[in-house]
Amino acid sequence: MYDVIVIGGGHAGSEACLAAARMNQKTLLVTGNINMISSMPCNPSVGGPAKGIVVREIDALGGEMAKVADKTQIQMRLLNISKGPAVRALRAQSDKVEYPKEMKKTILQQDNLEVIEAYVDKLYINDGIVSGVILEDGTEIKSKKVIVTTGTYMQAKILVGDTVKNEGPDKEKASMNLSTQLRELGFKTTRLKTGTPPRIKRDTIDFSKTEVHEGDKVERTFSFDNIYYKDINKQEPCYLTYTNEITHNIIELNLEKSSMYSGAVEGVGPRYCPSIEDKLVRFRDKERHQIFLEPESLSIDEMYVQGFSTSMPHDVQDRMIKSISGLEHAEIAKYAYAIEYDAIDPRTLYPTLESKDYPGLYFAGQVNGTSGYEEAACQGLMAGINACLKLQDKEPLVLKRNEAYIGVLIDDLVTKGVNDPYRLLTSRAEYRLLLRHDNADIRLRHYGYQIGLITKEQYQNHQIKIDKISNLKSILEDYYISPTLEVNEYFEKIHSTKLKEKSSLYALLRRPEIKIEHMNYFIDLSEYSFEEKEQAEIDIKYEGYIAKSQKQAEKLLKMDDYKIPADINYDVIHNLALEAKEKLKRIKPLTIGQASRISGVNPADISILLIYIKTINNL
Ligand SMILES: Cc1cc2nc3c(=O)[nH]c(=O)nc-3n(C[C@H](O)[C@H](O)[C@H](O)COP(=O)(O)OP(=O)(O)OC[C@H]3O[C@@H](n4cnc5c(N)ncnc54)[C@H](O)[C@@H]3O)c2cc1C
Repeated sequence: MYDVIVIGGGHAGSEACLAAARMNQKTLLVTGNINMISSMPCNPSVGGPAKGIVVREIDALGGEMAKVADKTQIQMRLLNISKGPAVRALRAQSDKVEYPKEMKKTILQQDNLEVIEAYVDKLYINDGIVSGVILEDGTEIKSKKVIVTTGTYMQAKILVGDTVKNEGPDKEKASMNLSTQLRELGFKTTRLKTGTPPRIKRDTIDFSKTEVHEGDKVERTFSFDNIYYKDINKQEPCYLTYTNEITHNIIELNLEKSSMYSGAVEGVGPRYCPSIEDKLVRFRDKERHQIFLEPESLSIDEMYVQGFSTSMPHDVQDRMIKSISGLEHAEIAKYAYAIEYDAIDPRTLYPTLESKDYPGLYFAGQVNGTSGYEEAACQGLMAGINACLKLQDKEPLVLKRNEAYIGVLIDDLVTKGVNDPYRLLTSRAEYRLLLRHDNADIRLRHYGYQIGLITKEQYQNHQIKIDKISNLKSILEDYYISPTLEVNEYFEKIHSTKLKEKSSLYALLRRPEIKIEHMNYFIDLSEYSFEEKEQAEIDIKYEGYIAKSQKQAEKLLKMDDYKIPADINYDVIHNLALEAKEKLKRIKPLTIGQASRISGVNPADISILLIYIKTINNL
């Protein structure tokens, strides 16, 4: 008997099984192909807007993705560096051969964690309770908790032109029976779709016709362990080129041959990661679309054509590729394809990702309707954590919308559901100024320590960092400079306005053109790390905005502390609108705050609900 069984070793499954094993639960990972653990069937990269912040949040809580991404990156960039701190995010070009290898190694070395290579055919149900799994060969394996992270595999179909195959990504076997059983158990499943672009042979590209995009010359890491594993001068560049009128004509003339437009595809595709056909149809006025040629790995001589996912027949793909500047002689090493698969309706889950109808059964990753490695990994981590906290009879860990992008993502899933594959964007987070790349550890590390995924030593180092940041801020606050000739010569030199009266360095740092490094002229900051200085600078420069956003969040999220009785009967609440009653009965929100975010539940319904709860609580 296991404590936890995780079905599927993708990005969600990897985090879930590691979290469970590290929280001292006897864990089993059952995955279809051990060599496909954490494989990257799509873009060879980790991070980007919002996603990069989630990777840091995973690390702050004690997950693994950040460390593996740091160890296997072949290029690292901090995006939006010229913009405000709320939209800055790291993006790594990952070696898609080394990334899965590194995660597999970590999993196979983990105590308390066994791994078997097999397909789960069904859940083992005993008296209506999910009590393990049944493998394709009929073997039954018992456990107290089961976490389903089957990704894009459930009844997967690969579509290219009018060719349709029952197959998973990268020619892997699809998982055919699990979603049938889930439907029999009453789960609503939806057909979703995503797609991947072709890969082309590196030595058939004329790079002289492209724009080179290099990595940053500053050592940056996702993990707060701050270990930079690579040689910063040996980063692989990416290359920018564009589609053009010829490309667009080829697509237009063959649109009905694309699986997407021939009707072969049933599933709904990601709005924010459209195929090139979709881009053409949706943005007809655009003369050209960006195409990034990204290195897949140091050991594979192929380039990933980012922004060019398609389900056109191979001969059309060849012509489309050859029409692009720099790719006139390109040879396709791997053709693009679309994949559609079954996913469940995440509104049937609690914010712990546990099923409302089948206690002990959890879902995480693409199976919940999201798209992206990072979105999957954070769900896997939270499902693993909450399955263990339940086993340990402890309070669940549910992150709020002002605490983490992970909180935003999961709340959106379980409260609003998905119509198309959900991808994280900064615009989804109303408190994004609080959810930054730089402060993920300050927001979440204490949770990681409380649940036992962050060690005492890591937490002590974290507290030292916190103390040093507040120490630095007090030094800057207490250090005053006067408008001497020498001081104003320095301000002139750094293109800042002359000082007219005595001022603290703290107040001066609020000047947009003044950077924390300029403070070295007055005081020695060498004992502070890059991250400590960066944190102090952001806290000081954005102090007013951060305080305002925090206040707003506290006011609005107060409702998230207002619990709704689990046995509430919405049918007896008079004046509650019919649509609200129907939605509340189906989604079973845990708090008034969650209820207020359900579409179709209006503020009037919330006041009626509040009064009713106060009445029944005799408050
Ligand atoms: C073709 C393609 C294109 C994509 N394009 C994009 C994109 O453009 N943008 C983007 O953000 N994301 C994209 N993705 C999605 C991205 O790959 C996923 O979001 C991510 O991999 C999901 O992680 P996961 O852990 O949920 O599932 P996966 O990574 O799919 O892992 C699922 C794992 O479960 C295992 N498994 C499945 N069924 C069983 C079973 N019954 N028994 C045992 N093991 C099982 C599989 O072997 C696999 O290891 C794409 C995916 C594919 C396949």
